[in-house]
Order: sequence, then C-alpha cells, then structure tokens
Amino acid sequence: MEEAAGSKHAYSIVVPTCNERLGVALIMYLLLKKTPQVNLTSEQDALTWRWTSHGEYTAKSAYEMQFVGASRDVPGMAIWRAQAEGKHKFFAWLLLQSRILTKDRLAARGWQGNSNCSFCSLHEETAEHLILSCPFAQQVWSRVTVWLNGFMSFQGFDLQLEDWWRANLQNLSKQEQRVKAAVLMYVAWNIWKERN
Ligand SMILES: [Zn+2]
Repeated sequence: MEEAAGSKHAYSIVVPTCNERLGVALIMYLLLKKTPQVNLTSEQDALTWRWTSHGEYTAKSAYEMQFVGASRDVPGMAIWRAQAEGKHKFFAWLLLQSRILTKDRLAARGWQGNSNCSFCSLHEETAEHLILSCPFAQQVWSRVTVWLNGFMSFQGFDLQLEDWWRANLQNLSKQEQRVKAAVLMYVAWNIWKERN
C-alpha cells in the first residue's frame, strides 16, 4: 500500500497556481503584523522586548520581528529572504511552527476522525511526520535530491521541523541560504498540497 500510494503521488508534483490561497495568506500575514510587539509583564510591571532573549531592544531584532509577525522562535530571516513566492514563504513560516492543519492539530481541536497519516496510515499525522519522516515524504525528498544531481543535499529528517530547517541552512552563505530555503519550502509545500 505504501508503495502504491508513494508512486501515485511522487509524479504529480507540478508548478502550482493557487491565487486564492495566496490572497488568504497575505491577509493573514497583514493581520499578524498588527500583533503588539511589546509585552507588559505582570510580575515586573516593566516593558520587555520579546524579540530578543535578553528582553532588550536591538535594531536587528526589530528588523527581524517585522517579518516574523507573532513568533520570535522561528528562524524568520531565512524564510523571508528565500528566493521564493510569498505563498511558499508563508507556508514555511506556518510549517516551522507546526501550525499547518495536520490531523493531530485537528484532533486537538476536538475533531473525531482517524488521525493517521493521509499518505501512509502508519503514524499519527503530525507536521514533522508528514513533511519529513513519512515514507512518501522521504520518497519525494530523495527524488528531488536525484533531480538536483549533487547541487544540493538534505539532512536532519529525524529532527523537529525548526531544527531540520536550521540543520539544512547552517554553514551556508546568505545567497546559498536563499536558494536552499526556497527549495526546502517549495518541496514541503508540494508535499502538503498533495496531501490536501
Ligand atoms: Zn505517513
């Protein structure tokens, strides 16, 4: 069954045109940009800057913050600098926070259906499983590796999504990061699209 599902899916990765989703993504992004950027903490009754670990404002963190919206933990710059379309960047931003609506998240919201993976049915459908460790996802990633013919390789498929993202982008130049980030998000987006 795995193999049948895999071979059915692996050939259908195509360049997508999906203007409605892009529109929704842009609206959500604009809404998220309005999220307050300064927190008033109850215990200290003091303003802290939530975008740095030490709580103090830096210009760099402010610059990065405006791109990451409500999250400070996602390595946002590599996402927004990627040589990719907005919809792919927005998807990556959600994915790295496990905020795409996989079945585990639906179940957590009270959904009663079978929460096994839509591709393999062998594992609970989490974002990590679906995009990284599922046999179908593995097949897609290895196929892309072959297509790229040594130009790029991928690693860290046993990691959490953010760590996988970092592992794949570390030790690269800014320009290499832009290209590889685009490939990562494009492949992940296509796996997700195939699932839907
Ligand atoms: Zn699976």
